[in-house]
Amino acid sequence: MDNEIDEAYNNELIDFLEQLITREELESAAFGISKQVIDKGAKSMSPKQKYVINNLVENYKKKTECELCKDGNIGSLTDYIYIVDNGVCPTCKNADGKFMKA
Ligand SMILES: [Zn+2]
Repeated sequence: MDNEIDEAYNNELIDFLEQLITREELESAAFGISKQVIDKGAKSMSPKQKYVINNLVENYKKKTECELCKDGNIGSLTDYIYIVDNGVCPTCKNADGKFMKA
């Protein structure tokens, strides 16, 4: 993510953070910033806050990988949360094991 935060990414980030809050996966610093982003949008973040959230997102991506497509089919940040629960991304899940034959 660069300095430019577009509307689509803003909404995606809010969805992602809302789910993490619901799942109680955030520690205090990230939790506070997430509340702010949900309330006021990603553009309200200071550079320092942005750094914390960027790290959170990057770490989440790093530790999460779809067993089938190796994240090649990832469409949005919330797909990573889906992988944590299902082992595969929504696209691979919907393909009904089609890619497993490879
Ligand atoms: Zn996949």
